[in-house]
Amino acid sequence: SSEQRVAVVTGANKGIGLEICRQLASNGVIVILTARNEKRGAAAVDALREFGLSDVVFHQLDVRGPSSAARLADFVRDKFGKLDILVNNAAILGVMTVDIGGPEPAPIQEAVASEKFASMSAAERLEWLNQRITETYVEGEDCLRTNYGGTKNVTEALLPLLLASSNARVVNVSSSMGLLQLFSGEELKQEFNDIDKLSLERVDELSELFLEDFKNGQLNHRGWPVEKGPSAYIVSKALINAYTRVLAKKHTALRINCVNPGHVDTDGSFHTGELTVAEGARGPVTLALAPRGGPTGAYFDRTEEASFV
Ligand code: NDP
Repeated sequence: SSEQRVAVVTGANKGIGLEICRQLASNGVIVILTARNEKRGAAAVDALREFGLSDVVFHQLDVRGPSSAARLADFVRDKFGKLDILVNNAAILGVMTVDIGGPEPAPIQEAVASEKFASMSAAERLEWLNQRITETYVEGEDCLRTNYGGTKNVTEALLPLLLASSNARVVNVSSSMGLLQLFSGEELKQEFNDIDKLSLERVDELSELFLEDFKNGQLNHRGWPVEKGPSAYIVSKALINAYTRVLAKKHTALRINCVNPGHVDTDGSFHTGELTVAEGARGPVTLALAPRGGPTGAYFDRTEEASFV
């Protein structure tokens, strides 16, 4: 019926995104499960249908493709005329290798398959990986353009349909890695946090500034996050947070928030997370299903509102 809410979830063929679809569909929402790969996406939809969830449909979406997002928007417009829930979940870590003392960096997949890794606790695994991650400019740019660029691309394409809903909710899956405490530059930290001065253009400029400094090997200059894991991933999540706040201020009819799902056992975390996907999806799903009203432009640590810093 027209009363039924309609949701789009990005990067939903596996991990937290797939579980978000499962939980939304279990709550009576029509779910458009999207994935960049048709085969993987269709298989995920089949799995949910076998689970008895019939209101799940597949649509291809590479979050980085403007034409891919436009095709999805056309599909949603023709079929439903509105969109109630958008969950921007798709993301990549960017980095593929770790420096474990050999002549060449080793693939992370190899390192996490080692006995030594298996014997560590979840927290130790994360620390161990973060300390050894190697990050090239190409990987960093890829990460930024997928996570921040993709979130922006998809949100912009679907915005008119969200504005046609009476209780539209955008949930941007962020991370505790996006917190400004990981930045060492005070000025930079303040710029990211100054919601009165931030604009959509300025958030874009900050993104380009990071890439420029990265390319020039000058991440330390302004105090970009370099200590605790992959810089581009951290900055991409901080940009998503800033974008969320600016967009919330601009569109007061929307409820648009970002959320750290927690440290979850998925391919994306190389299975270092201590939470199940069901636990990880809880925060994003709670925000997606929230009744009319409530906070907008806020950051949530799982289900609790928390500081951007
Ligand atoms: P996974 O790596 O398991 O899944 C990521 C999903 O994003 C996959 O479906 C992947 O598709 C998709 N994706 C990647 N690039 C694109 C693209 N260009 N277009 C469309 N889809 C794309 O990650 P998680 O489930 O662990 O993470 C989900 C979200 O949660 C991410 O935003 C992540 O940053 C965040 N998060 C996760 C944490 C964790 O501990 N797991 C902690 C904090 C935040 P494909 O299969 O084709 O690669």
